[in-house]
Amino acid sequence: MTSPERIAENLAAVRARISAACDRAGRDPSSVRLVAVTKTWSAEVVRAAYAAGLRDFGENYAQEFALKASELADLDGLRWHFIGHLQTNKARMIVPVVSAVHSIDSAKLAAELGRRAEVAKRVIDAYAQVNVSGEASKSGCEPAELAAVLAAIEASPSLRLRGLMTVPPASEDANEAAPVFRALVALRDAAGGAARLPELSMGMTHDLKVAIACGATVVRVGSALFGAR
Ligand SMILES: *Cc1c(COP(=O)(O)O)cnc(C)c1O
Repeated sequence: MTSPERIAENLAAVRARISAACDRAGRDPSSVRLVAVTKTWSAEVVRAAYAAGLRDFGENYAQEFALKASELADLDGLRWHFIGHLQTNKARMIVPVVSAVHSIDSAKLAAELGRRAEVAKRVIDAYAQVNVSGEASKSGCEPAELAAVLAAIEASPSLRLRGLMTVPPASEDANEAAPVFRALVALRDAAGGAARLPELSMGMTHDLKVAIACGATVVRVGSALFGAR
């Protein structure tokens, strides 16, 4: 496992990368939230990251997430973000503990999350995930479906619409993600801009600098903090 010392060092380096990217973009570093992606890492690794000062954590798999969250229920102020593809029938597994879902890709999933959140008497931050590149292997709704997904989120009093999320196609050159990020910004602007969609969840270990230059307000970082999975 990655040692607590190493995680603290890695966190300082990631924060420095975020700061430098913000400087270059003329942005305030406090305008970018860091979500630490802990999929495949143990609860002990999350504990070490929490001790290093992290509070926002991202998970991809409903079952792994529910188990880890129950092992870490004692950590005050920890916020769980669900960022992986979510089957409608697994919504109930994450609703009791999740703070934000970044991967809402259908009106049907939005309705089910909203219904479950209402029963659990919780309000969950909601992001629509868009498959901007049209790559078949990527999850997210088609741009043409976005209006319906946003409407379904807003129809639920237990979901709080926050913004959009995307994952660009894997590429050696991080600059190749820029057109994808810019397309997400254009979709946001066409759907009502920052007044309706204040958050843009985009950028990972490899391309966070490009994402911040394009306007990311949330970056989801795993391997730069915890090592290769
Ligand atoms: C795994 C994952 C991340 C983190 O990726 P790294 O390259 O390890 O930083 C971010 N977002 C999503 C949706 C992921 O699945």
